[in-house]
Amino acid sequence: MIEHLLKSVIRDVPDFPEPGIVFKDITPILQDPALCGAIVDSFVNRLTTGAIDVVAGIESRGFLFGLMLAQRLGKPFVPIRKQGKLPCRTIKQEYALEYGRATIEIHEDAFSPGARVLIHDDLLATGGTVVAASELIEQLGGQVAGYAFVIGLDFLKGHERLARYSSSVVTLAN
Ligand code: 5GP
Repeated sequence: MIEHLLKSVIRDVPDFPEPGIVFKDITPILQDPALCGAIVDSFVNRLTTGAIDVVAGIESRGFLFGLMLAQRLGKPFVPIRKQGKLPCRTIKQEYALEYGRATIEIHEDAFSPGARVLIHDDLLATGGTVVAASELIEQLGGQVAGYAFVIGLDFLKGHERLARYSSSVVTLAN
């Protein structure tokens, strides 16, 4: 079962990036190509979003499985990046992190208005990052079709903040 497999390889790293934070390190997953494939399969099998036109992944760990998922679905991939990284015209959204503040951006021409966008990131904590990503999608005239995360930290209740954008949230482990 994928949840059991993921829990056996994801490493808890105490005091990273700051004292008191226990960071979930997903890099060991990348050592296992079969598990990487199983993650994408599980997303595809569990998504209840209806049609998806675009997959958007959030820098940087959201690029790892986001592009794989887009390829598997046969859909375009759109990167949502930290401020100052995208070369063309962008729109921005500031947000609060579990630790600190940040700004993310998307290219203005990332998709056509009306597109149904699946948002992917490696981990859902407070939900601040994907709420900001959802705002960017809606500002460009897109619709959030749903969310796919490898890990959802259920105790932080991030999923409750996503309900106003889409009720379709897949997490594979917590
Ligand atoms: P949130 O905005 O939901 O509070 O935090 C989620 C964002 O922070 C994601 O972009 C995720 O990559 C990153 N993040 C926060 N905590 C962790 C963690 O423990 N492990 C990993 N891999 N990413 C984390």
